[in-house]
Amino acid sequence: MRNTRSSRTTKPARHHLELPAPAPLKKGALRVTPLGGLGEIGRNMTVFEHEGKLLIVDCGVLFPEENQPGIDVILPDFSAIRSRLADVVGIVLTHGHEDHIGGVPYLLRERADIPIIASKLTLAFITAKLEEHRIKPKTRQVVEGDRIDAGPFDLEFLAVSHSIPDGLAVAIRTAAGLVLHTGDFKMDQFPLDRRTTDLPGFARLGDEGVDLFLVDSTNAEVPGFMIAEEDLAPAIDQVFRTAPRRIVVSSFASHVHRIQQILDAAERHGRKVAFVGRSMVRNMGIAADLGYLRIPDGVVVEMKTLEKLPATDIVLICTGSQGEPMAALSRMANKDHVIDIGPGDTVLLASSLIPGNENAIYRIINAFTRWGANVVHKGNAKVHVSGHASAGELAYCYNILRPTAVLPVHGEWRHLTANAAIAMRTGIDEKQVFVIEDGVSIDLVAGRSRVSGRVAADHILVDGTTMGVATEAALTDRRVLAEEGAITVLAIMEHSSGRLTEPLEFFSRGFVEEAGWEKTATKAIEDALRTASNASSRGRDDVETLITRTLGQWLARRHRRNPVITTIVVEE
Ligand SMILES: [Zn+2]
Repeated sequence: MRNTRSSRTTKPARHHLELPAPAPLKKGALRVTPLGGLGEIGRNMTVFEHEGKLLIVDCGVLFPEENQPGIDVILPDFSAIRSRLADVVGIVLTHGHEDHIGGVPYLLRERADIPIIASKLTLAFITAKLEEHRIKPKTRQVVEGDRIDAGPFDLEFLAVSHSIPDGLAVAIRTAAGLVLHTGDFKMDQFPLDRRTTDLPGFARLGDEGVDLFLVDSTNAEVPGFMIAEEDLAPAIDQVFRTAPRRIVVSSFASHVHRIQQILDAAERHGRKVAFVGRSMVRNMGIAADLGYLRIPDGVVVEMKTLEKLPATDIVLICTGSQGEPMAALSRMANKDHVIDIGPGDTVLLASSLIPGNENAIYRIINAFTRWGANVVHKGNAKVHVSGHASAGELAYCYNILRPTAVLPVHGEWRHLTANAAIAMRTGIDEKQVFVIEDGVSIDLVAGRSRVSGRVAADHILVDGTTMGVATEAALTDRRVLAEEGAITVLAIMEHSSGRLTEPLEFFSRGFVEEAGWEKTATKAIEDALRTASNASSRGRDDVETLITRTLGQWLARRHRRNPVITTIVVEE
């Protein structure tokens, strides 16, 4: 018996090799295709297909890494559904985080009237975002406990607790079986709003028989259980009790409960609060109007009122907890903001440290420390708890739901694999635990799941207003430009003879070399032009190519340099 158990906890099957496109879907079957969120934290999107109709769950963005210069966000690849947008019966948004809703404006650009199905707060956040894109969406508000039809999909919504209020899991019933998608969730038993993850609902679905379970993997590697949001109060109180001057708090602009805790602490300690940054001001306005945020009387004031108060009365709440360079917090750290942080000020980073952002965040912590501020963060005080279920909580979920098949979602490879291992440890058949990549589809037929094929699921890069125009090749150029600089060579050529009539001119940006390199480079290029046979039959393009190639090879050989080279030949 023990042996059987340990063999189950070995590696899950991986279905990410060269798979063909899936065959047309059989009648009565359900196809599940994640287009984003697998192998990465971000751009979550899953497509469900049944009886010729499509249902989308979430449509988020991924934020670029340091090696993707100039990219604003990264989207899921819509190409697999582009020709079938007319068949989409709705987009379910599980909650209002950017990695779940940020891609919606781009999808609605392609078909504006896809109904958005979500809870009240999620709809308010996405509607405000779409307003900035001048899109007025078709919406359908739901609340936990609701059961609605969207085309052939029978949807039931269940409350989940997360780091933003009003999150929902969605149960999808079709003739093929019952699927449960958790969205992002944790099992905080004492959330500020007392709206816990609906475990009785999960148990009821478990009794009915969950055929396929899509489950948040973010914290699958973290053992045990999360502490409750309200258990952060003593550490936050401690900061307010001991801070000698101003307090600057940074958090996600959607973390309503964390900001509630800051407002409550400010009230207890007689301080006033101003919100800084467009998204923070907008979201907290929405949350307060809809009753998700309680603003104690007189605690929140305008920035200009706050500035006149003594430093001991001041609290600022701003965005930028992930080190985003344009956000208020980074600009304060760089002394590029009206708020000048100095000795005696306290900076409270009440937020997570998303993988990939570590360098930027530590740069900020170091900068504030250098200016004399006291920086309080999750590394030195209990001021943050994650919004995602950890390993212990996931195990409970599996045991409550007892699903037939499991598809870990929302995570990097290590998170998906750790989540799969927990599923198998609770006894789920390893052949029914799917660690797959974006674009790989799973078909559910009569309660049985299997991998059915693969569609395109590339990273679509957004740069400014263009979507999918910037490519990996362009990013490679940008990285080379950043590391090596650029050289432009200008040559004047006699049309009839193909001979250069003036000395070559070199213009460089960001390219660093000892003075005089141009002279030796000119000689190498002239030699190459001479050696190349029959100069007069060469066109301008050939000469440009030859100069670029010769200079590139010469710089690589002589100076170990590889700048971007552009040659312009002007004919006389
Ligand atoms: Zn989330």
